[in-house]
Amino acid sequence: MHNTSFRLQGLNYIYLPFDVPSSNLADSLKALRTLGIRGINVTIPHKEKILQYMDHVSEEASTVGAVNTVVNEGNQFFGYNTDINGIIESLTPYKDDIAKSAATVIGSGGAARSVLYSLIRHFKVSKINIINRTEERSEALKDYFKDKMHFEEISTFELMPKENIEVYKSSKLIINTTSIGMFPTVEDTPTDLPASFNKSQIVFDLIYNPLRTKFIDVAASKGAEVINGLKMFVVQGARSFELWTGETMDVDHIYSKLENNLR
Ligand code: NAP
Repeated sequence: MHNTSFRLQGLNYIYLPFDVPSSNLADSLKALRTLGIRGINVTIPHKEKILQYMDHVSEEASTVGAVNTVVNEGNQFFGYNTDINGIIESLTPYKDDIAKSAATVIGSGGAARSVLYSLIRHFKVSKINIINRTEERSEALKDYFKDKMHFEEISTFELMPKENIEVYKSSKLIINTTSIGMFPTVEDTPTDLPASFNKSQIVFDLIYNPLRTKFIDVAASKGAEVINGLKMFVVQGARSFELWTGETMDVDHIYSKLENNLR
């Protein structure tokens, strides 16, 4: 996405992957300053730990407690969370439907944090159910958001599809933030029970590979409005691109290129 855009827009940058173990995080950031690298994206397992090395953190990233984009400006590190931009853009067309409604979030990792923040701050949901395999993590997430954003209406449930049917059914919005169903284990899904879904729901899967997960398939079979993770992916990248270069990425072009590749 980034290298294609640099080439298309004649920008003298290159985007490279670095595999950095946790024990090398601090040293790798020193290298950023030494080498004059403009910025980075960070992913699992660094998104939370990197906050302590930032000179400035955006309000959103600070509330969420996770940074995915760093800008090196005059040797000062500025931390942002652009996943939030991707989530907001994906759900904005449904803003009126979501407001004052119940939402269910499956998962309790980094992506779930950004989703909870967006649902509370931007979409004004009335209630959030968190479903997760590991109960301690969903409990920790609930406590974190109750404390940080003073949002009290959070309930937690274990990932048990049959027992979760009523939770799903009573939700206007359902979001999968786990990696269940991601390539190559495309037959997996948080629930394969059609009774969980109905045609008045909006069902969002953060996964974009495959474009149509089994989870999305089951929800669509009951007439739910479905959204995959590709728009979120492109928008989070486009926002990072803008923060580093000051230029606007051609989002539509990149989206269709990626969509074709994934198809
Ligand atoms: P993470 O912090 O590692 O969290 C993973 C979550 O998935 C946890 O809640 C974990 O449950 C659950 N999980 C994983 N495997 C499971 C399994 N086999 N059975 C049940 N639960 C399982 O990862 P993350 O950063 O939040 O990312 C999660 C997903 O979001 C990934 O698929 C990623 O590609 C996607 N994502 C998409 C975008 C986008 O732009 N579209 C952006 C960010 C992330 P436990 O707590 O029980 O371990």
